[in-house]
Amino acid sequence: MTQQPYKLPLPNSQPESDYYWEKAKAHELWLRKCNECGDAYFYPRDICPNCYSNNVTWIQASGKATLYAYSIVERGPTPPFRDVVPYIAAVVELEEGPRMPTNLVDVPFDEEHIKVGMALQVTFHDVTDEVTLPKFRPVG
Ligand SMILES: [Zn+2]
Repeated sequence: MTQQPYKLPLPNSQPESDYYWEKAKAHELWLRKCNECGDAYFYPRDICPNCYSNNVTWIQASGKATLYAYSIVERGPTPPFRDVVPYIAAVVELEEGPRMPTNLVDVPFDEEHIKVGMALQVTFHDVTDEVTLPKFRPVG
């Protein structure tokens, strides 16, 4: 199979999230967690969005999640997305609590196979030599 160049938007390097992307490249999912209030949160940033403490750390997520919301995208919003339809835009709720936007993959594109609340597991797509994107697929 020929690998096409990846044309969709890629993350910008930022000090607050570089560690997250470095771990994603190693096929690990890491989250920020607050040492003051105990909340884990996404997206990665140096200040807790719950209590505004900067006493935060990194934790490795289990990679387990449930489907919180999704949409089967049939018409891409901009040219590069038009080349990859259909795809499933999703928000998943991680076992640690935070919700994250992602894609649901390895599932038929119909509502018989996609259920809100279904059990999911992270999977990693190496989209370029430098960038790996965490996506989610059904468990089992
Ligand atoms: Zn906090």
